[in-house]
Amino acid sequence: MTATGNSAASRDKAFVLHPYTNLHAHETQGPLIIERGEGVRVYDDAGNAYIEAMASLWCVSLGWGEERLVQAAAKQMRQLSSYHIFGHKSHEPGIDLAEKLIKLAPVPMSKVFFANSGSEANDTAVKLIWYYNNALGRPEKKKILARTRGYHGVTVASASLTGLPNNHRDFDLPIARILHADCPHHYRNAHPGESEEDFATRLAEQLEAQILAEGPDTVAAFFAEPIMGAGGVVVPPATYYEKIQAVLKKYDILLVADEVICGFGRTGTFWGSQTLGMRPDILTCAKQLSSGYLPISAVMVSEAVYRACVDESKKIGTFGHGYTYSAHPVAAAVALETLAIYEERDILGHVRDVAVPFQKRLKALADHPLVGEVRGTGLIGALELVADKATKANFDPVGRAGAVVNTLAQENGLIVRAMGDSIALCPPLVIGEDDVHQVFDRLTTALDAAI
Ligand code: PLP
Repeated sequence: MTATGNSAASRDKAFVLHPYTNLHAHETQGPLIIERGEGVRVYDDAGNAYIEAMASLWCVSLGWGEERLVQAAAKQMRQLSSYHIFGHKSHEPGIDLAEKLIKLAPVPMSKVFFANSGSEANDTAVKLIWYYNNALGRPEKKKILARTRGYHGVTVASASLTGLPNNHRDFDLPIARILHADCPHHYRNAHPGESEEDFATRLAEQLEAQILAEGPDTVAAFFAEPIMGAGGVVVPPATYYEKIQAVLKKYDILLVADEVICGFGRTGTFWGSQTLGMRPDILTCAKQLSSGYLPISAVMVSEAVYRACVDESKKIGTFGHGYTYSAHPVAAAVALETLAIYEERDILGHVRDVAVPFQKRLKALADHPLVGEVRGTGLIGALELVADKATKANFDPVGRAGAVVNTLAQENGLIVRAMGDSIALCPPLVIGEDDVHQVFDRLTTALDAAI
């Protein structure tokens, strides 16, 4: 849409400060105005249809126009449109959702804290970890490890956990006490000839060396997405988490699983932690919790973490953390309905079925002249564009080729997401096999046009 007169595009440029956007480029380029959605497709203001193969930032698991979610929201709006749960107030949607999440948790969990976004959930986890260690009389045990290329959000603490340069540079981040371990990307970071198994062993040894260098009594927690999403869909080697967790256990360091993308069936089990063999002490989730229909996130904590927080609160009074909209009743009602639909329609079974052609078509793209690596599990995947397949040399500058393919895909009615030169795919979980083929046909057309 050209930005003329009083068009939405020109008003966008006049009034909106865009999140996560090259602001300088936006001043000339302007926006794509999305007007409506139906199933796995969204439509722009000129009526063009796009398969949304990123589920609107890894969120809209049930696709657009799911009437049951609309009805759940409307019903709750009429009954109790808004209420907080500070102090000793509560309401049934929040209670029901907490109970449901505890039942679904991949490992025994004790309590659920609600927030509104993945960033807030991870920020909450950081604060709980600090509170927990103060409660245990370990004021020095506060450093938190995350990983290079990990993504945990953009609030001050969660952006510090994130290991991507654009989230730190000129924002004066990361804050003190947040450190980064190496990214488990075999294709980019393994030594020549190093097997996946040996690479995982080396990363665990490096982690241990880093913990020893910092002082184990100063390291509190390790944050990890089961599969890294925004860092380029990095699937760690099979034995990685087993080895990492042995190190964490040795030094009494908590594991936080950031399930904001992987949770709720994305990887073919209900939680990414199950697919990847993680046993977290704290689990954060968001996005597909409500199929992205309303903002809501959750932090699940083990009994040990919860009990320590209660002890601390007993000492100092109010546990001074909470959001006005923690457990917002309408968002909670929509999340409950989302979880009910997952069960009733066996969305997990569907993901396992449709993941077969999805992964097959993805793997076939490894033969494309522009593609250095493909990677993925379940209904998440990415391909990495390279200038030279043999040497794995990047295009210069990194990100230009990704942007070109992104644009060409969009011109072919397909929304993907370029992260540097990795092109990510994360379609709604309800996508059918025919549309899976459409996604890869259109992506192949875009790749061919980019050569
Ligand atoms: N954690 C992960 C793994 C994410 O992918 C994201 C967002 O994409 C976040 C946290 C931050 O979530 P939000 O954008 O809702 O703050």
